[in-house]
Amino acid sequence: MMVFDNTYITLPPSLWRRQVPSPLQRPKLLTLNHSLLSELALDAHWWHSAEALAGLSGATPWPGTEAIAMKYAGHQFGGWNPDLGDGRGVLLGEIHAPNSACNHIGATRIDLHLKGSGPTPFSRQGDGRAVLRSSIREYLAGEALHALGVPSTRALAIVSSAHPVRRERMETAATLLRVSPCHIRFGHFEWLFHSQQHDDIRALADYCIARYYPDAANHAKPYLALLAGIISRTARLMADWQAQGFAHGVMNTDNFSIAGETLDFGPYGFLETYDPYLICNHSDHNGRYAWYLQPSVGLWNLNALAQAFTTLISIPDIELALAQYEPQLIEHYDQCMNAKLGLGAVQIGDRDLVAAWLALLQKSQQDYAQRFRWLSEQPLQALSSADWGAHSPQASEWLARYAQRLSSHNQAQRLHDMQAVNPCYVLRNYLAQQAIDAAEQGDALPLEQLTEALQSPFTRDQRFETFDAPAPAWAACLSISCSS
Ligand code: AMP
Ligand code: MG
Ligand code: MG
Repeated sequence: MMVFDNTYITLPPSLWRRQVPSPLQRPKLLTLNHSLLSELALDAHWWHSAEALAGLSGATPWPGTEAIAMKYAGHQFGGWNPDLGDGRGVLLGEIHAPNSACNHIGATRIDLHLKGSGPTPFSRQGDGRAVLRSSIREYLAGEALHALGVPSTRALAIVSSAHPVRRERMETAATLLRVSPCHIRFGHFEWLFHSQQHDDIRALADYCIARYYPDAANHAKPYLALLAGIISRTARLMADWQAQGFAHGVMNTDNFSIAGETLDFGPYGFLETYDPYLICNHSDHNGRYAWYLQPSVGLWNLNALAQAFTTLISIPDIELALAQYEPQLIEHYDQCMNAKLGLGAVQIGDRDLVAAWLALLQKSQQDYAQRFRWLSEQPLQALSSADWGAHSPQASEWLARYAQRLSSHNQAQRLHDMQAVNPCYVLRNYLAQQAIDAAEQGDALPLEQLTEALQSPFTRDQRFETFDAPAPAWAACLSISCSS
């Protein structure tokens, strides 16, 4: 059994309400994240018990938990919405996290959040539930991003059920036990600012410093250091998303973590055919969250957050802090792309070489992950433009530039380094869909196999041979519903 802390209830009451979960009908443990259980030194045996299932399905709270729904607000597609909050999930409590790999910020405790646990005071018209489909998608994305080195919330378990829920069609409800050191969103600060609860902003900022940005406490201006820290981690996260070809899809400020982790998965997507204009959310009619715009949306969101900080620090200080976003993002992005191309330390001209490579991928409609892996698996002399079809002349020209840039590199080392950062297994939508279809029929095996492949995405494994193929024809028009 786990020992829980519940420090969010020391925050001002404007930020939370007690909320007991409501039980799912005929719950069944669908999958457990064994890799995460062992990282957290949790006893896998107990997680198969009736007591574990009772907590996971919302039937009987685990001893020591004090479930709360958090209140926040946020900007959705650019418009202010004061009426948000945990509408279908509760924070159960925090557990100690020994050197946990799901914890990129070095916090000592991580939250367990039960998503899909029934209505709360913030459910509005919603049913408080999460469908099995979207719970599986969230589970897979957390594992995929984490394995790629991108900070993300993860999940320990999914419980399926016979509980009917209506979306575009009738589906069944599930719960997902989300794990993250942080459930504070940009929208928490925005809520307090726009409802003029300024004293509570200070309390929230103090909590964030103590738990997530302890170094800021030693700074002459701790609140400025806090904001600068959030800006830094967000810049890094946006660079990671771009380098890994991840499209979040719903970059509303209520879905942005102050710890700089990927949070709240909706109709996300990983780039398959390289298309910078990808809009993976079908309700994003104006393309606000198109993939190539993500870095600028990150800054827009930070500006929305920074408004709340005007109650704590001066506007010139805020402007200086925000000015650090772009250079930090670009620096980390350049490093990521240099690593993906095996170029080592960034040199003058590298940015051009990267841009030319991406332009080539775009024009020739190549698969983003596969082409990087292709570069990573053959010696320079073997890289030929023969299979680039009509784009072979441009490919040949680029490959010559590439070979020139790498002429003094140790080739074996290049292959080794590139294979450690360019995945062979990517979370393609059709793979997620296959796992979902099977799970909806009660078969968790495809989900478990896909999870295992995504948890070790850089190592080829015969068992997972089929997972590195681009989408088959049937999946070409797969449409990912944004209902969840
Ligand atoms: P999301 O699109 O998941 O980020 O959710 C946006 C807001 O709507 C959050 O406040 C959610 O808690 C809430 N919400 C989404 N789906 C439901 C649901 N089925 N029932 C209640 N609240 C929901
Ligand atoms: Mg959300
Ligand atoms: Mg949500």
